[in-house]
Amino acid sequence: MRPILKSRKLANVCYDIRGPVLERARQMEEEGHHIIKLNIGNPATFGFDVPEEILQDVIRNLSDASGYCDSKGLFAARKAIMHYTQEKQIKNVQLDDIFIGNGVSELVVLAMQALLDNGDEVLIPMPDYPLWTAAVVLSGGVAKHYLCDEESGWLPNLDDIRAKITPKTRAIVIINPNNPTGALYPNELLLEIIEIARQHQLIIYADEIYDKILYEQATHTSIASLAEDVLFVTFNGLSKNYRAAGFRSGWAVVSGEKNHARDYIAGLNMLASMRLCANVPSQFGIQTALGGYQSIYDLTLPTGRLMRQRDVAWRLLTDIPGVTCFKPQSALYLFPRLDPEIYPIEDDQKFALELLLEEKVLIVQGTGFNWMKPDHFRVVFLPNADDLTEAVGRIAHFLQHYRKR
Ligand code: PLP
Repeated sequence: MRPILKSRKLANVCYDIRGPVLERARQMEEEGHHIIKLNIGNPATFGFDVPEEILQDVIRNLSDASGYCDSKGLFAARKAIMHYTQEKQIKNVQLDDIFIGNGVSELVVLAMQALLDNGDEVLIPMPDYPLWTAAVVLSGGVAKHYLCDEESGWLPNLDDIRAKITPKTRAIVIINPNNPTGALYPNELLLEIIEIARQHQLIIYADEIYDKILYEQATHTSIASLAEDVLFVTFNGLSKNYRAAGFRSGWAVVSGEKNHARDYIAGLNMLASMRLCANVPSQFGIQTALGGYQSIYDLTLPTGRLMRQRDVAWRLLTDIPGVTCFKPQSALYLFPRLDPEIYPIEDDQKFALELLLEEKVLIVQGTGFNWMKPDHFRVVFLPNADDLTEAVGRIAHFLQHYRKR
């Protein structure tokens, strides 16, 4: 029989966070092994519960949530998102500029499919959250990775961005706060990125899904609040700030220079209509989530669970000889570097697999984030301090033997 092949469109699409190493971990769990998982930023599975009032709103409204809603989302939810954009100083956002989706993930793909013709280029950070690269490639585009400099706290390298612009470049993506590095971008840098976008007429896509997960009283600026003459699409949602990743609820907000983007916006509207609407029950939680008390801040205080876990994981990792790591200012991840002189890794997926098999610890290799060398890996610091201590101890043990090979 003729083999059934997947579409050629998928040939270069890659999402290693849920790749072959995770598959092996699943098999091991079925065989009865206990794996410590430092691989996925899914707060609820580590005892970070969704705030009760959000849950209650979803439950109370469930009987009214069986029908489709407007393709862009429920009125009250979009109104709350509109108010949130006002709080974040993003100017002139109307209800019609807001698209609610099944998580940011769906909207990223939708935004790329509405934009790209074959061969169009999009500037994407390196390392990235790999959904962005995958969405560009799936949509026929070319992902051009610009360097984020580890030495400068993982900030985007503006010269590299400029050097990678061609007549085919359509947009630049920034992930701020950043996954996987934990970097938070200063306003001066955001203004420089805007200036580049202005000069080359690029859309700025800003993934800000971690904008409330900030440590040491850091503050976040939405890049879209800093200019009105560039087109911005800003992404956020319930998955991280509100620990409700399983609700699959996110949004995209179009702002800035919308007049010249009418055709693109019509494309977004069409794709949003084609998928009818996003999951309705979870949209009933959005208004409650965005208003009132923001319990995420309890977790990021020095006494809060997230900040304590960040500190434990960072300290233990950087105590390992040959391991260095930027201390995250935001988000849920550490992206340590393994000194290649000490740990000459050639294939970091193999490295992650060996760590899993030998120590039952699951991480994601740096190349899974489109990082250029096999010398980094990502650790999620959502597990409790005891599990993190145990896991990093096992990583240290593994590395000690790895050196002697
Ligand atoms: N953007 C970034 C930077 C992420 O880290 C994630 C999930 O880890 C997403 C988007 C996906 O978010 P959602 O759950 O809303 O689809």
